[in-house]
Amino acid sequence: MDVERFRADAHQLVDWVASYLETVGRHPVLAQVDPGWVRAQLPSHPPESPEPFAGILADVDRIILPGVTHWQSPGFFGYFPANSSGPAILGDLLSAGLGVQGMLWSTSPACTELETHVLDWLVEICGLPAAFRSDSAGGGVIQGSASEANLIAVLAARESATHFASDRHGTGGDLIAYTSVHGHSSIEKAVRIAGLGSRQLRLLPVDSGFAMNAKALADQIAVDRADGLTPCIVVATLGTTSTTAVDPLRAIGEICREEGIWFHVDGAYAGSAAVLPEMRKWFDGLELADSYCFDPHKWLLTNFDCTAFYVTDRQKLIRALTVIPEYLRNAATESGAVIDYRDWQVPLGRRFRALKLWFVIRQFGVAGLRQHVRRHIELAATLAGWIESDPGYEVVAPHPFGLVCFRRKGGDEVNQQILDGLNRSGDFFLTHTRLDDQLTIRVAVGSPQTTLDDLERLWEAVREIAGPRSGTQVEQGAHHRGGGTP
Ligand code: PLP
Repeated sequence: MDVERFRADAHQLVDWVASYLETVGRHPVLAQVDPGWVRAQLPSHPPESPEPFAGILADVDRIILPGVTHWQSPGFFGYFPANSSGPAILGDLLSAGLGVQGMLWSTSPACTELETHVLDWLVEICGLPAAFRSDSAGGGVIQGSASEANLIAVLAARESATHFASDRHGTGGDLIAYTSVHGHSSIEKAVRIAGLGSRQLRLLPVDSGFAMNAKALADQIAVDRADGLTPCIVVATLGTTSTTAVDPLRAIGEICREEGIWFHVDGAYAGSAAVLPEMRKWFDGLELADSYCFDPHKWLLTNFDCTAFYVTDRQKLIRALTVIPEYLRNAATESGAVIDYRDWQVPLGRRFRALKLWFVIRQFGVAGLRQHVRRHIELAATLAGWIESDPGYEVVAPHPFGLVCFRRKGGDEVNQQILDGLNRSGDFFLTHTRLDDQLTIRVAVGSPQTTLDDLERLWEAVREIAGPRSGTQVEQGAHHRGGGTP
């Protein structure tokens, strides 16, 4: 493709993306197509001759857009957010434009050094333990996802527990991993990939706020030791997927220290809240962790994929993952003066992902990041207030961050009706969980474009779909736009 053609097409595409972001709220939030619809619109065979970009872009409108669920829509309240922003889009574009592959420092020094630098910046921005900084024995790296970060933590813990035996004969036989029943599914996947097997993962009970019971952890470790097994890693969650419960990090960390067990903290979603000094209380005890991850690609305005992963002892991680073939040997690596991030992750190759994080931090500034996260926490608290003040509904879990879990009183059926009705409306998308074996609706407030108006519309729609509850007089509209409370 000649450069002038590229320039013209690229301008057209950037215009398209800008218009999309401007109008994203006008699309039905959830893709409206049946399974197989998208493929049915596509030709069975690839084109023999080159096609003009204008035709391809027209097909994006005709075929792709109807099959897209609009994660950036102000009405998107499902799962956890997957923030996108102008600076991050441009950072990704630049990464693709440079087209570097940063597996070694020497394959593109800027790719490695910018990554090290912005991860140190994140330590400062989030008030994380100094032991995660690159000028200590630890350091940070960008992984593709929290699932990958959880896997890396399990692999490093496994090697650490077995004195780095896998370079000789393999490991995994009697090792035990621990998390709570609300730990993310990626932890079980990581344990399986690491060769421990699901039966070597202990899912510990939680307290009434859905956080790990630390006493149950200590008891289980004692039982496993008595059975001749080797506790290897505890994964605590800072903001569980179902409810954003925070496991008691300090109590768990102290048990791990005493027992000599690797302590990993999964802060995939809620970790971004640490940009706010007033939220740091939730991170108490993080300094006891051997490793930690959180996802700027969830709630910190940085397009997927960008997980910040930190360790306090980088040598353990590197020792667990290094294999050096002759064809990758080079003077910089041999000097010991550089970081080669290929030794900190599963794949060899890596994109220049630090660019988007750098753009985001610089273009929003720390103040902008704080404003973004604080606004969502305030919106979620407002919504929770409306729900709590309606006798027909209950907020069923603490909501320290941007997620509110609630139920209409009266059983699963009416809650399923509400969920289906909202998702069919095209105006919203929400997902659910089960708490105490009851269907629970989750509202994850986190799209950059979501406003108080959107929450008002949502709350109104919930009550309209549910209708008045038999036996209880629910005052329609009583909580809308009256006094200081909408
Ligand atoms: N850990 C927790 C607590 C999560 O909530 C999630 C996803 O929501 C993950 C891990 C997996 O995140 P990723 O998509 O980055 O792998």
